[in-house]
Amino acid sequence: MKKVREVRLDMNGIYKTKARELITTYLKSHTEQRFTAREIYDEICRKEAGINRTTVYRNLDRLCETGELLKFKEPNQDAWYYQYSLKHNHCDKHMHGQCSVCGKIFHLDEPFVKSFGDKLLEKYGLDIDPAQTIVLGKCSKCRRIKKK
Ligand SMILES: [Zn+2]
Ligand SMILES: [Zn+2]
Repeated sequence: MKKVREVRLDMNGIYKTKARELITTYLKSHTEQRFTAREIYDEICRKEAGINRTTVYRNLDRLCETGELLKFKEPNQDAWYYQYSLKHNHCDKHMHGQCSVCGKIFHLDEPFVKSFGDKLLEKYGLDIDPAQTIVLGKCSKCRRIKKK
Protein backbone atom coordinates (compact mmCIF):
# COMPACT_ATOMS: atom_id res chain seq x y z
CA MET A 1 0.00 0.00 0.00
CA LYS A 2 2.74 2.38 1.00
CA LYS A 3 4.72 1.56 -2.12
CA VAL A 4 1.83 2.33 -4.45
CA ARG A 5 1.38 5.74 -2.92
CA GLU A 6 5.08 6.57 -3.27
CA VAL A 7 5.03 5.64 -6.92
CA ARG A 8 2.02 7.82 -7.52
CA LEU A 9 3.64 10.77 -5.80
CA ASP A 10 6.72 10.33 -7.93
CA MET A 11 4.66 10.35 -11.08
CA ASN A 12 3.00 13.60 -10.02
CA GLY A 13 6.40 15.08 -9.37
CA ILE A 14 7.64 14.02 -12.77
CA TYR A 15 4.60 15.50 -14.52
CA LYS A 16 4.98 18.74 -12.61
CA THR A 17 8.61 19.19 -13.63
CA LYS A 18 7.88 17.99 -17.13
CA ALA A 19 5.01 20.43 -17.55
CA ARG A 20 7.14 23.29 -16.35
CA GLU A 21 9.91 22.32 -18.73
CA LEU A 22 7.58 22.01 -21.69
CA ILE A 23 5.95 25.35 -20.97
CA THR A 24 9.21 27.27 -20.68
CA THR A 25 10.77 25.54 -23.71
CA TYR A 26 7.74 26.29 -25.83
CA LEU A 27 7.40 29.93 -24.81
CA LYS A 28 11.15 30.49 -24.96
CA SER A 29 11.17 29.50 -28.61
CA HIS A 30 8.26 31.85 -29.32
CA THR A 31 9.26 35.03 -27.51
CA GLU A 32 7.57 37.21 -30.10
CA GLN A 33 4.20 35.69 -29.46
CA ARG A 34 1.86 35.31 -26.57
CA PHE A 35 -0.55 32.53 -25.86
CA THR A 36 -3.65 31.86 -23.85
CA ALA A 37 -3.48 29.21 -21.14
CA ARG A 38 -5.68 27.08 -23.37
CA GLU A 39 -3.29 27.30 -26.32
CA ILE A 40 -0.35 26.41 -24.10
CA TYR A 41 -2.23 23.48 -22.64
CA ASP A 42 -3.11 22.15 -26.11
CA GLU A 43 0.51 22.41 -27.17
CA ILE A 44 1.77 20.63 -24.05
CA CYS A 45 -0.75 17.85 -24.60
CA ARG A 46 0.51 17.30 -28.10
CA LYS A 47 4.01 16.79 -26.73
CA GLU A 48 3.19 14.87 -23.61
CA ALA A 49 -0.10 13.12 -23.07
CA GLY A 50 -1.08 12.63 -19.45
CA ILE A 51 -0.39 16.08 -18.14
CA ASN A 52 -3.61 17.50 -16.85
CA ARG A 53 -4.92 20.98 -17.29
CA THR A 54 -4.65 21.91 -13.62
CA THR A 55 -0.95 21.07 -13.62
CA VAL A 56 -0.36 23.28 -16.65
CA TYR A 57 -2.42 26.18 -15.28
CA ARG A 58 -0.80 25.94 -11.87
CA ASN A 59 2.65 25.98 -13.46
CA LEU A 60 1.71 29.06 -15.46
CA ASP A 61 0.80 30.87 -12.25
CA ARG A 62 4.00 29.74 -10.60
CA LEU A 63 6.11 30.88 -13.56
CA CYS A 64 4.42 34.29 -13.42
CA GLU A 65 5.22 34.59 -9.73
CA THR A 66 8.89 33.88 -10.37
CA GLY A 67 8.91 36.39 -13.20
CA GLU A 68 9.74 33.90 -15.91
CA LEU A 69 6.47 34.58 -17.66
CA LEU A 70 4.50 37.74 -18.15
CA LYS A 71 0.73 37.72 -17.96
CA PHE A 72 -1.35 40.16 -19.96
CA LYS A 73 -4.97 40.95 -20.32
CA GLU A 74 -5.79 42.55 -23.63
CA PRO A 75 -8.54 45.06 -24.17
CA ASN A 76 -11.84 43.51 -25.25
CA GLN A 77 -10.51 40.03 -24.63
CA ASP A 78 -11.61 37.77 -21.89
CA ALA A 79 -8.55 35.58 -21.72
CA TRP A 80 -5.17 36.10 -20.14
CA TYR A 81 -2.13 35.88 -22.34
CA TYR A 82 1.23 34.50 -21.36
CA GLN A 83 4.59 35.44 -22.78
CA TYR A 84 8.11 34.42 -21.94
CA SER A 85 9.94 37.19 -20.13
CA LEU A 86 13.35 37.83 -21.58
CA LYS A 87 15.31 38.58 -18.47
CA HIS A 88 18.20 40.28 -20.23
CA ASN A 89 15.62 42.40 -22.04
CA HIS A 90 13.87 43.39 -18.81
CA CYS A 91 10.44 42.65 -20.23
CA ASP A 92 8.87 43.67 -16.94
CA LYS A 93 10.42 47.12 -17.27
CA HIS A 94 9.24 48.17 -20.71
CA MET A 95 5.97 48.39 -22.58
CA HIS A 96 5.14 46.06 -25.41
CA GLY A 97 3.52 46.60 -28.73
CA GLN A 98 1.45 43.96 -30.41
CA CYS A 99 0.12 43.47 -33.90
CA SER A 100 -3.58 42.86 -33.52
CA VAL A 101 -3.62 40.73 -36.69
CA CYS A 102 -0.73 38.26 -36.35
CA GLY A 103 0.05 38.77 -32.67
CA LYS A 104 3.70 39.68 -33.17
CA ILE A 105 5.24 41.22 -30.08
CA PHE A 106 7.44 44.29 -30.07
CA HIS A 107 9.72 45.01 -27.15
CA LEU A 108 9.45 48.77 -26.80
CA ASP A 109 12.72 49.23 -24.98
CA GLU A 110 13.90 52.41 -26.70
CA PRO A 111 14.55 55.32 -24.31
CA PHE A 112 11.86 57.50 -25.91
CA VAL A 113 9.18 55.01 -24.84
CA LYS A 114 10.35 55.29 -21.28
CA SER A 115 10.24 59.09 -21.47
CA PHE A 116 6.72 58.81 -22.90
CA GLY A 117 5.81 56.96 -19.72
CA ASP A 118 7.49 59.64 -17.62
CA LYS A 119 5.54 62.31 -19.50
CA LEU A 120 2.24 60.53 -18.81
CA LEU A 121 3.04 60.60 -15.13
CA GLU A 122 4.09 64.23 -15.27
CA LYS A 123 1.15 65.53 -17.32
CA TYR A 124 -1.69 63.27 -16.26
CA GLY A 125 -0.52 61.76 -13.02
CA LEU A 126 -0.90 58.37 -14.65
CA ASP A 127 1.75 55.99 -13.43
CA ILE A 128 1.65 53.17 -15.94
CA ASP A 129 2.78 49.65 -15.23
CA PRO A 130 5.05 48.81 -18.17
CA ALA A 131 4.69 45.07 -17.70
CA GLN A 132 0.92 45.40 -18.13
CA THR A 133 0.87 47.89 -20.96
CA ILE A 134 0.36 46.93 -24.57
CA VAL A 135 0.23 49.27 -27.52
CA LEU A 136 -1.93 47.71 -30.21
CA GLY A 137 -1.46 48.23 -33.90
CA LYS A 138 -0.67 46.54 -37.17
CA CYS A 139 2.83 45.39 -38.06
CA SER A 140 4.39 46.28 -41.39
CA LYS A 141 3.87 42.77 -42.74
CA CYS A 142 0.15 42.74 -41.95
CA ARG A 143 -0.34 46.22 -43.38
CA ARG A 144 1.18 45.03 -46.65
CA ILE A 145 -1.12 41.99 -46.83
CA LYS A 146 -4.17 44.18 -46.36
CA LYS A 147 -3.22 46.49 -49.21
CA LYS A 148 -2.93 43.69 -51.76
ZN1 LIG B 1 10.04 42.78 -23.73
ZN1 LIG C 1 1.19 41.47 -37.99
